[in-house]
Amino acid sequence: MMPVIATIGSHSSLQILKGAKEEGFKTAVITKKPMVKIYDSFKVADEILIVDNYSDMLGEKFNDKFSNFIFIPHGSFVEYIGYKNMLKSNLKFFGNRKSLEWESDRRKMFKWLDDSKIKVPKIFDGPDEIDRPCIIKFYGAKGGKGYFFVSDEKEFYEKMKNIKEADDYIIQEYVVGTRFYPHYFYSKLDHELEFFGIDIRYESNADSIGRIPPKFSDKINPTYVVVGNTPVVIRESLLPRVFEMGENLVNASKKFFGGLWGPFCIETILTEDMEFYAIEVSARIVAGTNLYIDGSQYTKIRYDEPMSTGRRIAREIKKGIETGRLDELLQ
Ligand code: ATP
Repeated sequence: MMPVIATIGSHSSLQILKGAKEEGFKTAVITKKPMVKIYDSFKVADEILIVDNYSDMLGEKFNDKFSNFIFIPHGSFVEYIGYKNMLKSNLKFFGNRKSLEWESDRRKMFKWLDDSKIKVPKIFDGPDEIDRPCIIKFYGAKGGKGYFFVSDEKEFYEKMKNIKEADDYIIQEYVVGTRFYPHYFYSKLDHELEFFGIDIRYESNADSIGRIPPKFSDKINPTYVVVGNTPVVIRESLLPRVFEMGENLVNASKKFFGGLWGPFCIETILTEDMEFYAIEVSARIVAGTNLYIDGSQYTKIRYDEPMSTGRRIAREIKKGIETGRLDELLQ
């Protein structure tokens, strides 16, 4: 029996389900009541399962139903279920679920990036060390929420006064440059890295400050809450480094936790001297790929048909079934 491709109804679910249908799979979405009309309208889910809490998915109630489901994790999936629960769960996930631990735990993520020879912005041990503009990042902040900019120690203490429960944060060098978020897909079956496209996140209000006169913008503190994504292409001469970063990350993942496969993204900032600094790794599909449901400028070169990241996932699963290697893809 062909498996059903399923995911939680948020983030990149429409793309994932659309891609699965394009590859001939039946699909299911697990969602809450307010979203049902969305899936009714877009017609990409053959089955809509309504839950009150996403944690219900982990209970016995769905054991039979889910026995033939392959779940595709995305950012909201990891946020709603939690990577620790995902590690323990009996659900079948596409990809290596251990990679979700390595993207979620910042210490592990920095170790992974370091071993991959990808630069990261400097982290300061305490406010007294701040000697350049910094960004203060809270653990577990979702989508950059609550991050703020400080130029020195004095500003750090002034701004911290307004923050409650402020013990869980890092002080990181603010890298001035252009943000590029390259999307990759690593095929475990073919041992090949593909580059799928690239986006820039649109963040409020940092990306809007330039739209008002400086005498007003001077008084506004930049914030970095991700609100959308815009497409971008990168100078072709930078592609070798883009590929190299992806390959290094995949190679290091084999050493640390048995490999990274399927879609992933390295959130980078490119400085004027052409150095990439990584601020995060997403070891699963990112929402920026939603720009390219009909394929990106790059997938159009490699594929003669529209190829989204969601569809590429389904195609890998299909090939896994055809070659008797599906189990290798679900770990
Ligand atoms: P999380 O994954 O924890 O939910 P996130 O992925 O939304 O968070 P980040 O990508 O770490 O958060 O940061 C959000 C935004 O803040 C970035 O897209 C970028 O614009 C800005 N930012 C983060 N770190 C830096 C940095 N070191 N220098 C400059 N800008 C930064």
